Amino acid sequence: MIIASNLGFPPLGAARELKRATEGYWAGKLSAQQLLATGAELRRRHWELQRAIGIDRIPANDFSFYDRMLDTCALVGAVPPRYGWKGNEVDADTYFAMARGSQGKGRDVTAMEMTKWFDTNYHYIVPELERGQSFRLASKKPVAEFREAKALGIDATPVLIGPITFLLLAKTKGTRFDRLSLLDALLPVYAEALSALAAAGATWIQLDEPCLALDRSEAERAAYLHAYSHLAKRGDKTQLLVATYFAGLDDNVATALALPVQGLHVDLVRAPDQLDRLLSEWPKGRTLSAGVIDGRNVWRANLQAQRALLDRAMKTVGDDRLWVAPSCSLLHTPLDLDLETKLDPELKGWLAFAKQKLQEVVSLAKGDRGAVEASSTAAKSRRASKRINDASVQRRAAAVSEKDRVRPAPYAVRRKTQVALPRYPTTTIGSFPQTAEVRAARRKLHDSQLTAEEYDAFIESQIGKTVALQEEIGLDVLVHGEFERNDMVEYFGEQLAGFAFTEHGWVQSYGTRYVKPPIIFGDVSRPSAMTVRWSRYAQSLTKRPVKGMLTGPVTILQWSFVRDDQPRAETAKQLALAIRDEVLDLEAAGIRVIQIDEPALREGLPLRRADWADYLHWAVDAFRLATAGVRDATQIHTHMCYSEFNDVLRVIERMDADVISIENARSGSELLQGFEQYKYPNEIGPGVYDIHSPRVPATSEITGALKNMARVLDDTQIWVNPDCGLKTRGWDETLAALRNMVEAAKGMRDGKRET
Ligand code: GLN
Ligand code: ZN
Repeated sequence: MIIASNLGFPPLGAARELKRATEGYWAGKLSAQQLLATGAELRRRHWELQRAIGIDRIPANDFSFYDRMLDTCALVGAVPPRYGWKGNEVDADTYFAMARGSQGKGRDVTAMEMTKWFDTNYHYIVPELERGQSFRLASKKPVAEFREAKALGIDATPVLIGPITFLLLAKTKGTRFDRLSLLDALLPVYAEALSALAAAGATWIQLDEPCLALDRSEAERAAYLHAYSHLAKRGDKTQLLVATYFAGLDDNVATALALPVQGLHVDLVRAPDQLDRLLSEWPKGRTLSAGVIDGRNVWRANLQAQRALLDRAMKTVGDDRLWVAPSCSLLHTPLDLDLETKLDPELKGWLAFAKQKLQEVVSLAKGDRGAVEASSTAAKSRRASKRINDASVQRRAAAVSEKDRVRPAPYAVRRKTQVALPRYPTTTIGSFPQTAEVRAARRKLHDSQLTAEEYDAFIESQIGKTVALQEEIGLDVLVHGEFERNDMVEYFGEQLAGFAFTEHGWVQSYGTRYVKPPIIFGDVSRPSAMTVRWSRYAQSLTKRPVKGMLTGPVTILQWSFVRDDQPRAETAKQLALAIRDEVLDLEAAGIRVIQIDEPALREGLPLRRADWADYLHWAVDAFRLATAGVRDATQIHTHMCYSEFNDVLRVIERMDADVISIENARSGSELLQGFEQYKYPNEIGPGVYDIHSPRVPATSEITGALKNMARVLDDTQIWVNPDCGLKTRGWDETLAALRNMVEAAKGMRDGKRET
């Protein structure tokens, strides 16, 4: 019998219970007790669902109130000193202060940094480590959740993030040092955590080591062997499964197979080619968990092809040592396709969400012939469907040439004809607070309690108020505020051909932020203008320039579920042409500054360096195709956020935006170090404060950030802006922060005059 297994389940709940409860707790409306009870209820429900589907190995401790890397910090007591942690168990307030920062009750601490989890749109909290620091077991969560499952009669697989991945994803504080130098201090704590789970009765423990599927140095490979040899010395009978995903093991195969563990999970969706190599060296008696159902996309699997992979594996591994599983945790897929009542039935027949994917896993494990045949029929119908092919889009994309991607004049020439602004010009990234009132208006429109005219009038009133406030604060380049947008990708997808939408397809972005990624199923085009009326209205209210705000082709691609029947580069090109049409319409409507957001460009980088050049080439080409049609006088901005930019600094130059704004506030001086070594030619606004936290930065703090920038950048290059959009913030903190920001910018201008 092949075992049906799962690596992780989305914790949110069908009615987004976890989000509601957590935010309720933060707002002081729910007690810690009530929050914990909601968590327990969701875990029970999801375990029972998985059992009912027929999953044999069900994960535990995959649940998190915020993030699993943060949970791991709590588990091993990696709490940075600024949180004043006393060294006992990490309580809810310390936990959430680490995630979000905390102001009030005599406390004023910043949040920990967060960044993208590999190439997903999920953000994890980055552990902060100090040279020579110690660790201690500081959370009972894994054991407690294992026991909860056991009480329901489920022998769950507790899931932990493995020690090497934990260290490799951490950042060092203070002087730079090798993170792996902390391994020997960390391993005893992991061993203690594993022993506690063993004592509670765990038969298997899953250790997630996605870093083992990435480019690794010899020293890092050696650290893997060292770590798992240490953990193998525990002396209990609990078996360890090391889980890798998002890429193939490739040059790390030998290391992975040499680990003294009982099982290995590999991603056979992203990297099916690794199977042969693995099987040719497979150690006798080792369990193979074959990730054959795509945990990163929403398409229904072609079970026939996946079954063939399993048959090959079975010959070597034996059916008693073979597990079938999703390729990775199902955290990155929506919960349940059955909740979608409005999706077109043809399209629905091509899809599978978390619950359906587990059904596919079980069908494969059981060798269910009916299910295999039905999946082949669905695959055939999709290939042949007229809904995905648009000949005019295909012709237009084929005719694109390099001249469509180059602006006629270089930046230095263009700049002279663009909007005149003071030094250290101030602006924001686009969105202003999406208050309960704004969301309520959208809901009322959706429920027909507001007419389209009433809703539009409401949006105009929000824009009017926001434009007036920006003028009053003294910002130089204004925005309309993006009140009409539910989400920066969904809003565009809804107006583009080739996209479909779900009602409940939520996936976690960070903490309690969830997004509903659109599904790109066919050729993409823009039937009519998407944003022009709002930008034109905002511009009609003021003499100052109002930035047109668009989402770029790579970000739309990256934050959507993308068709898997043509290369991503081709879909990006179609998206670029659609955005290009909108850019030109904005320009024609008198908009002098247009920002095309590409926050996801960096995260789209393939996980293996060998694949970077190809991706960057087509991704930057898509941005250039979207923007290069404008006149010299139109100033093109782009924005990127929460990422490690130093990897792509040189690539940003090839995008040739006149101005770029980027996240900086949370990652401190790293970005500045990058600019020390590399001279960026155009204008740039490294974010001067962190918008992910409600705390209001003091003017002096912002001035400090600006002075740091002025050390590595020319003062004619520097823009002054927050590090991302303000939609998640409240008005009070937003206005206070922007006032301080404008004051700091003015101080820089004046200061310069004095010297
Ligand atoms: N213009 C968008 C906003 O301000 C950008 C958001 C983002 O970078 N994620 O909300
Ligand atoms: Zn951003």
